[in-house]
Amino acid sequence: TLLTPNSPTAELQALDAAHHLHPFTHGAGLAEKGARVVTRAEGCWLTDSDGNRILDGMAGLWCVNIGYGRSELADAAHRQMLELPFYNTFFQTTHVPALNLAAKLAELAPGDLNHVFFASSGSEANDTNLRLVRTYWQEKGQPERQVVISRWNAYHGSSVGSGSLGGMKGMHAQGGMPIPGIHHIDQPNWWSEGGYATPEAFGLERAQALETAILEIGPEKVAAFIAEPIQGAGGVIVPPETYWPEIQRIAKKYGILLIVDEVICGFGRTGNWFGSQTYDIQPDIMTVAKGLSSGYQPIGASIVTDDVAKVIENTEFNHGYTYSGHPVACAVALENLRILEEEGIVDRVRDETGPYLKERFESLADHPLVGEVKIVGMMGSLALTPDKVTRAPFAEPGTAGLICRERCFANNLIMRHVYDRMVISPPLVISKDEIDTLVERARKSLDEAL
Ligand code: PLP
Repeated sequence: TLLTPNSPTAELQALDAAHHLHPFTHGAGLAEKGARVVTRAEGCWLTDSDGNRILDGMAGLWCVNIGYGRSELADAAHRQMLELPFYNTFFQTTHVPALNLAAKLAELAPGDLNHVFFASSGSEANDTNLRLVRTYWQEKGQPERQVVISRWNAYHGSSVGSGSLGGMKGMHAQGGMPIPGIHHIDQPNWWSEGGYATPEAFGLERAQALETAILEIGPEKVAAFIAEPIQGAGGVIVPPETYWPEIQRIAKKYGILLIVDEVICGFGRTGNWFGSQTYDIQPDIMTVAKGLSSGYQPIGASIVTDDVAKVIENTEFNHGYTYSGHPVACAVALENLRILEEEGIVDRVRDETGPYLKERFESLADHPLVGEVKIVGMMGSLALTPDKVTRAPFAEPGTAGLICRERCFANNLIMRHVYDRMVISPPLVISKDEIDTLVERARKSLDEAL
C-alpha cells in the first residue's frame, strides 16, 4: 500500500531514505536526519507532515510566482488532459495549446522576440540555445563561430550542456563538465570581489572582461554570450547599473548573440515581465521556464528574434524533446499567464509589494551579521560576514549560511543559503503582512545564528 500525506513522518522519511536519491543533496547526511516532508500548500504557505505551517520565502525553487493552490490551473490541466493529453509538435504537426502559448509569449516578450522553441525545463531550453547559436552561425556561413562565453557562478541548468554553460565549479568537478567551446569570465559581484572600486567602476570593469575574452579567443570564433539579468542561484548577485549597458555595447560591437537567461527573472520577479526590461537589455534569445507555469507543470522555452528564427528556419534543426510543447504544460502556462495579467500581479510587484519588501528587507542591514542587502522586485539576498568593515569571509565559508538557513527552517521560514549569502524569492502574491512575517522570522533566525 502507498503512504499518504497523513502517514506518520517517520514512515515517510524511512521510505524516502530507502529509495529516493535527492538532487543537490548529500544523501547519507540526509538519511541520518530525515527529509522534511512537505504535504500541502496554499498561497505562500507550506504544510509539513508534522502539521507545521511554513512561510515559503523561495516560491518553491524560485518558480511558484502566483502562489500555491490555484484551482484554475488544475482545471486547465484537467480539461486539456481530457481533450488532448499528448501530441507532439515534431514532423509538421502542431496543436492548439502550443500555438496559443507561442503567440502569447511573442506578445509578452520585448522587441522582436517573436518565435518560441519549447522544452520541459530551463536546462533543456539552454541546451537548445547552445545548439541554436552554433547552428545559427553555421547557417550564416561563419561555422568557426562556436565559442559561447558565460560567467563563473552563473547557473544555467544541470544537464551536461547547460551545466557547462553555468559557472558552478562544484558541478564542473563531477561528470565531465565543462564541455569544450565554453569560456567563463568573472561575475559582477561588487560586494565580495570589487570593494576596492566604486560599484559603477567595478560594473564596467567586469563587463569589459567580455571584450577582453572576445579579443583573446578571436571575435570570429565567438558565437554568443549568456547571462542571467540577476544571478539567482549564484546568490542573487545584483549587477551594478553600469554593467548591462556595457555588455550590450560589446555584444553589438562584435556581432555576438546575446542569450539572456530569464528562468528566474522572467514573469514578474524583478517587477517587470522580464529582467531584460528592468535592465534595458535587448536579447537575441531569451530562456524561460519556472514562472512560465508558476511551477505547476514542467515547461521551458527559448524565445528568439525574427532574425534568429529566419536563419534557423532555413535548415532542418535536428533537435527537439518528446515533450516540446506538451499540451497540458502549455494549457497550464497559458492559464498562469492569464492570471498574472488579469490580476495585475506584475504591476503590484513593481508598484506596491516590491517597494514594501525592499524597505522591510533592507532594514536587516543593521544586523551584526549582515554585510550587504540587495533586493530587486521579489528577489533578494543578504551577504553574511564576520566583519562588516573588512568584508572578511568566514573561516569556514558556507557554515554561517547553513546555520542561518537551519534556524530559518526551525522558525518555519524557507530561505536558502548560497555559501554565506541568504537568498529570498517569495511568491509574487505575498501580502504586506506576510512580508512582515518573513522579515521578522529572518531577523530572529539571524539573531539565533550569531
Ligand atoms: N537557468 C536559470 C537562471 C536557473 O535559475 C535555472 C534553475 O534554477 C535553470 C536555468 C535551470 O532550470 P531547470 O532547473 O528547470 O532545468
